[in-house]
Amino acid sequence: MVFRIAVVGLGKIATDQHLPCIAKNRNFKLVAGVSRHAKVEQVACFESLSQLRASKIAVDCVALCTPPAVRLAMAREALDYGWHILIEKPPTPTVGELLAMEAYARKKKRVLYAAWHSRYNRSVDMAKARLKGQHVNFLKVTWKEDVRKWHPGQEWIWQPGGFGVFDPGINALSIVTKILPEPIFADSATIEVPANASTPIAADIRFKRGDGAAADLSAAFDWRQETGETWEIEIGTKSGLALHLKKGGSVLIVNGKIAHEAVLHEYEDIYAKFARLLKAKKSEVDASPLQLVSDCFMLGRPVTTAEFS
Ligand code: NAP
Repeated sequence: MVFRIAVVGLGKIATDQHLPCIAKNRNFKLVAGVSRHAKVEQVACFESLSQLRASKIAVDCVALCTPPAVRLAMAREALDYGWHILIEKPPTPTVGELLAMEAYARKKKRVLYAAWHSRYNRSVDMAKARLKGQHVNFLKVTWKEDVRKWHPGQEWIWQPGGFGVFDPGINALSIVTKILPEPIFADSATIEVPANASTPIAADIRFKRGDGAAADLSAAFDWRQETGETWEIEIGTKSGLALHLKKGGSVLIVNGKIAHEAVLHEYEDIYAKFARLLKAKKSEVDASPLQLVSDCFMLGRPVTTAEFS
């Protein structure tokens, strides 16, 4: 079965990953692009979902690659047209909007797949298997990169609903929430927001276990690192197991030895999964990374820092 798909929001991730992965996947056929300014070659392009609908082009599903702040209204419109939906991470600016989107998809009997791309990694699955049944008492997430390199010219990331440094940080939390055997909870946070922005440029977070047992659980996010990327998660357990996920979760080191190292093919796996969900008519929505981020903002101490330019 071939699903006719339109890609919405033709920006960096749509161009870097979605369009090439759709072209490689025989379960999908790109039938249109939707973006206010950009176009994709060889298919019809429209500035809005309503224009696409008016064109009468047959569409089965859409990939929403716009910023999170505008996704709920777009998703509702697409669902009203009878289209299934794949959405980029973070799914929505708030947990409330995600729950509303999930409920609306259910009401319209359409598939909603809220993808967390960093979860699609063999090393991540291996880490999850190793941690099964373990008592985690150490977590150190270090997610640092240069915002100018990874988000050039993107104004939306600094606006309410744009997440700031939590936009990459939530990738780490999507891994953490997948692999830990028990959920963790935000305990406190210091959140640095530039004087001329609405969203953070850095955050230091402390987490706690749900059972109150002593544990050293933390995350440091920073967008001011100009010396390359550090995307790492270290985990320790009471039994002495030490896991280290490096390079965004693609490399797994177990007790000091490399256990797995692989080239990333996250978006290939996302489209393979989307095809499976469409065939099975099943949705997949996990709010837990968004919930953790939301809780960090709820408990965090905001600190105003130097203007970003
Ligand atoms: P981007 O380059 O800014 O692209 C987003 C596109 O959405 C823009 O090109 C814009 O196209 C459209 N858009 C922007 N604001 C809009 C609005 N208010 N209403 C309607 N359309 C709007 O951003 P991106 O980096 O691709 O990120 C998009 C999403 O993918 C984010 O949620 C991000 O977290 C996620 N993501 C990004 C990366 C990455 O490496 N960049 C990786 C994984 C996931 P038009 O102006 O033409 O409408």
